[in-house]
Amino acid sequence: MNRMEREKKANITCTSCDALCCQLTVVLEARDAVPAHLTTRLAGGLHVMAKDEDGWCVALDGQQMNCRIYDSRPIVCRSFVMGGAYCRAERDEHARQGDRTIALQLT
Ligand code: SF4
Ligand code: SF4
Repeated sequence: MNRMEREKKANITCTSCDALCCQLTVVLEARDAVPAHLTTRLAGGLHVMAKDEDGWCVALDGQQMNCRIYDSRPIVCRSFVMGGAYCRAERDEHARQGDRTIALQLT
């Protein structure tokens, strides 16, 4: 990572981000312990966090823009580090394309 990239990473904070990562499709693992009513299954059978009609994860507190199940959030969400590679890629893509919804599975 060069100096410009390090400075860019240092300037990233969730408090100035519209929780972009909480619009992604969060694929659950068997060891995740998320309340069942917050989850759903896609047509192909993948177990995922459910989304509201606007495409946000149903566990997102839309007022505070934070996770209502933070302590028991899915493993994939724990892997999504602020300023990390996935975060920066998502923010860059959002800046290029504007609002969108993509599927994400961290393995
Ligand atoms: S982890 Fe990254 S994409 Fe997610 S809310 Fe924080 S800054 Fe935004
Ligand atoms: S479970 Fe929490 S951290 Fe994960 S996408 Fe939903 S609101 Fe965001």
